Amino acid sequence: MRDGALIYRTAFVDGLKPDPDLTVSQWADQYRMLSNKASAEPGPWRTDRTPYLREIMDCMSANSAVQKVVFMAGAQLGKTEGINNVVGYMIAHAPGPALFVQPTIEMAKRLSKQRLDSLIHETPCLAAKIAPARSRDSGNTMFSKEFPGGILLLTGANSATGLRSAPCRWVLLDEVDAFPSDVDGEGDPCALAERRASTFSRRKIILTSTPTVKDTSRIETEYLASDQRRYFVPCPHCNHMQWLQWKNLQWRDGDPKTAAYVCEACGCHIPEHYKSEMLRKGEWRATATSQDARTVGFHLSSLYSPLGWKSWEEIVTEFLRAKNDAPLLKTFVNTVLGETWEEETGAKLGAESLSERAEFYPASEVPSGASILTAGVDVQDNRVAVGLYAWGAGEECWLVSHTEIYGDPAGQKLWEQVDDLLLRDYPHADGGRLKVAAIGVDSGGHFTSEVYAYARSRKGKGVFALKGQSVRNKPPIGKPSKVDINYKGQVLKNSAEVFPVGTDTIKSTLFGRMKHNEVGAGYIHFHAEAGQEYFKQLTSERQVVRYVKGFAIREWKKKAGDRNEALDCFVYSYAALHFLYMRFNRNTIFEQFERAATNAPKKDENVQAQQVKQESPYRPPQRRLQRRASSFVTSW
Ligand SMILES: [Zn+2]
Repeated sequence: MRDGALIYRTAFVDGLKPDPDLTVSQWADQYRMLSNKASAEPGPWRTDRTPYLREIMDCMSANSAVQKVVFMAGAQLGKTEGINNVVGYMIAHAPGPALFVQPTIEMAKRLSKQRLDSLIHETPCLAAKIAPARSRDSGNTMFSKEFPGGILLLTGANSATGLRSAPCRWVLLDEVDAFPSDVDGEGDPCALAERRASTFSRRKIILTSTPTVKDTSRIETEYLASDQRRYFVPCPHCNHMQWLQWKNLQWRDGDPKTAAYVCEACGCHIPEHYKSEMLRKGEWRATATSQDARTVGFHLSSLYSPLGWKSWEEIVTEFLRAKNDAPLLKTFVNTVLGETWEEETGAKLGAESLSERAEFYPASEVPSGASILTAGVDVQDNRVAVGLYAWGAGEECWLVSHTEIYGDPAGQKLWEQVDDLLLRDYPHADGGRLKVAAIGVDSGGHFTSEVYAYARSRKGKGVFALKGQSVRNKPPIGKPSKVDINYKGQVLKNSAEVFPVGTDTIKSTLFGRMKHNEVGAGYIHFHAEAGQEYFKQLTSERQVVRYVKGFAIREWKKKAGDRNEALDCFVYSYAALHFLYMRFNRNTIFEQFERAATNAPKKDENVQAQQVKQESPYRPPQRRLQRRASSFVTSW
């Protein structure tokens, strides 16, 4: 009998006509009781005690247009009771089907037994609506609580079955950073749960959590996509509104007792006893534009914890205890500052470790073992960067040179210097000389047409225009598209081509290789002349994980302001190697080029060119042969 229809009918029959304008905070102030079992301050709830919770809770009110609330917070802020108020309001005032998700089933059980049972029993208007669990067929079990007009289902993010429940207007997701990234192979549990609410136009979703590790933190990702509200409070001295930041909390002589907040405007010290007044006069202000207008995000650190809860003195004490111990410091950053922790080791590749393994081989010479030279050109507004790399069997790789040429990419002179650098041959350590076989030039900047023109006129010399695609799982290089069209929109016969380059794929490959230390296939050699700036740029990016509709998306990101041209040039050089793979047999290409390089009979280049031509199943159309004996195969 306890089906959805009955629930809705009951709601109708009961004639529930709640005051449409009552908000969660008003409801809590009127009805909510805190027990002495669960709370340090038993008695009637007062929103004034934690004024910052008012707006967060009220966004969950039925009369608010907000559909999704993101709340990233430290400890000791009353977050849990705030969510309990939302649950109580929902049961008493705005009943409907609701799903409350904890990180695990075990935790959902605990939530039910401890938090919810005391919430219900100590607040009379809730106790009247939900029968005690003891009574038979009361509609009140560990994982489901029925009440007139609605039902509250409890589950763990580790249970796909629980998340696949019936549609729910209310979805509460608690401690989302502790959720597994995937549940039973069905994807992101947050997305699964949120989908339950998708059919309700007046849905209410709340995600809360203490954040964890940077880049993989769900709550931070959600917060960054929101309007990023901060709680601004006035300085008691100058009235300047500001949000409290850890960097402005100061103390003297290592003594936490001296902790005070330094106003960012007047520089005055604000002792903690001003806090209650500041919180009362505070207000939430958005610091960004939300990707979705109906999503709002709140961030709060424990610096805002009300007087008598967690003091600035305690926070400084905790910090001093933790500061030299990474795991303790991580806990401090997460639970006190309410911020993510940035992992310094592991995935991140340091410039120092790379430069330490630099070798002493001459720059601008092709080392023994390499047989193919490729180049990548990155075009900036006032310069180009040119990376030149040599490749051998198994894609063992050597940095030959990395050069920056300053000048105007819209003018001729700069490109002539690029020619001087790339349209020449380089001495090989084993004797002979090697031409640059393929040259990829980035057309993605502000000089697209100049790059097209440059590539078009040097097509026969292995130059091609490329455009990076930072999309996952793209091949290193894709099919080119013609870019020149006439006024009728027709592609010109001799059009320039641009090759899509899977920059994410290549970065993953190259970073993986930079990490491994065994000389041979896949190893990357750097010469000692490369310099710190080169290594800094090469390691300027790292992979971050972002969640899109429940799927983890790994992307390469650089810190704002950092230069990364060296990395881009390396990526394009690798794309250029794949450009050659489209034209030669990948299994034999290094041997072919090697034979061509070392056996290059100085007098008869035709033989050599012929050789390559015959062995390649992807025969390049050879219109003309190179004049110089040491050069070979550059015409397609
Ligand atoms: Zn001030």
